[in-house]
Amino acid sequence: MDIQLHDKTFASFIAVHEIKNAVGIVANEINSFYKQKTPVILPVLDGAFVFAADLAKQLTIQAKFSFIKYKSYHNTQSTGTVSQLLGLDIDIKGQDVLLVEDIIDTGLTLHYLLAELKQHQPASIKIATLLAKPDALKVPLEIDFKGIEIPNRFVVGYGMDYNGLGRNLDGVYVLKEADTDTRAVR
Ligand code: IMP
Repeated sequence: MDIQLHDKTFASFIAVHEIKNAVGIVANEINSFYKQKTPVILPVLDGAFVFAADLAKQLTIQAKFSFIKYKSYHNTQSTGTVSQLLGLDIDIKGQDVLLVEDIIDTGLTLHYLLAELKQHQPASIKIATLLAKPDALKVPLEIDFKGIEIPNRFVVGYGMDYNGLGRNLDGVYVLKEADTDTRAVR
């Protein structure tokens, strides 16, 4: 069934059972990798909240959680973009950090986030994402735990939005129109 969000129509793309399956696989990989450790899991808000919650329920390891946000905005006082890491309320020095994303598109968010988090001197930083668009990557990025690779198309649902809507859809939906630059209007 198609979904209408604002001015755009989205078609069913990844079914709920496929997502469940992918979450289970990623959870198993994380459980084996961190068997003897207690990682600090950092879901990147807003998009990762649904994936992080489903993933958390399938983790059998001990883990701490803290939710972070990475804001990029144009500073009116100076030229250029300013970025700010918000919400990191755990000392990650010497800790094993696992970043959890809903989707990796250009990879730029994580690229900057990694650089910023490394300044806090964690023992390690790994990345888990439900979805990845390998053809959209603009920077080299090693994704340690990956659910499903998708083509370079705009999707919503399961935490992901189009202009604020669609995050609560249980499946993933894809933009129907020939689309090249939807992110520019987000
Ligand atoms: P990146 O920095 O380009 O890798 O983008 C990362 C963030 O952009 C994700 O965490 C999402 O919030 C958002 N994003 C990227 N692609 C999509 C998409 O297809 N639909 C909705 N949000 C997206």
